[in-house]
Amino acid sequence: MTQDTTIAPPRPRTSPVPRPTRVPEEIRAITKVELHQHVDGSIPVEVTWDIMRRHGLAPVDTVDELRRLLVLQEEEEGQGLLKYLDKFHYPLWVTQFYENCAEVAYAIAKQAYEQGVRLLEIRYSPIIHVYAGLTPRQAIVSVLEGLNRAEAELEGLTCGLVIIAMRHMGPHIAKIVARQAVSEGQALHDRVGVVGFDIAGAERGNPPRLFREAFEIARRAGLGVTAHAGEDEGPEAVWHAVDVLGVRRVGHGCAAIKDKALLRRLARDQILVECCQTSNYQTGAVKDRERHPVFTFLEHGVPVAICTDNTTVSNTDQCRENALLVPTLSLDEISGIHDRARAHSFIPANRRKP
Ligand SMILES: [Zn+2]
Repeated sequence: MTQDTTIAPPRPRTSPVPRPTRVPEEIRAITKVELHQHVDGSIPVEVTWDIMRRHGLAPVDTVDELRRLLVLQEEEEGQGLLKYLDKFHYPLWVTQFYENCAEVAYAIAKQAYEQGVRLLEIRYSPIIHVYAGLTPRQAIVSVLEGLNRAEAELEGLTCGLVIIAMRHMGPHIAKIVARQAVSEGQALHDRVGVVGFDIAGAERGNPPRLFREAFEIARRAGLGVTAHAGEDEGPEAVWHAVDVLGVRRVGHGCAAIKDKALLRRLARDQILVECCQTSNYQTGAVKDRERHPVFTFLEHGVPVAICTDNTTVSNTDQCRENALLVPTLSLDEISGIHDRARAHSFIPANRRKP
């Protein structure tokens, strides 16, 4: 008797991440606001490649091989937040040095500008950029330098920097980071300064309440406050961010749609949710092509911003994130989201270009 050893071919796997089939020209023309974009996850691949080659750091032989290391691949999608965060190791090889930080911040701002972004907040965690000897303060100033160059060269662009404390480093380091952020606060600068404070990294095991004092330091000094919450944890994480940390915005906030009272609270107090659609499908914060929470927020009167999170890791950009809203929303509605999001930017009104 012969055994059938035929192995069925693997079923083609459908990606859990919806992608726009095309980006309408009208989407490109919208003047956009970006409120949630990370430095490390948004460095254009070619820029990382150039810097790595210049300094003899390239771990692979071609830029395409590097792209596979920096961009989340289809087979890596939907496998959780920690898998997604794995993509951030290689960028950290280059962003430990002052000139490199300035160069990558400039490149990110330029790329956003080409997408129609005119009000740009990028965010950055200085404490994981000090391994080569920079101080946290120098790490902050290096990114500000790149953003200043971008503002000087790109007409009509206004930038601001949001400083992130990493949750897994604990509340004490977060307080130290908050003080460093305050010391480069926008009020002390004529040009680009620090406009906000945030916590990010693994949510589980690091509840928002631990970071109350760090947020107090930031808030009292006049920084805008936001927190990554409800991406990998339930609605209670968003409640705590709002009630305990006093945030005016929430990063991701996907779990908030499970709690009607929370939706009412976000709407009542006009707390904006920074929505990052592609990233949310990739991390599994939103499951397999389910309707994205951004639509539920809009239906409940919760203000939202359309954000990229990490243009390189997520292989996305502002135009593609906006194209995902079509056809559910009209172009006027999409444009209106950006107009309203301007009011929630932490960049002071007197710095913005008309
Ligand atoms: Zn984020």
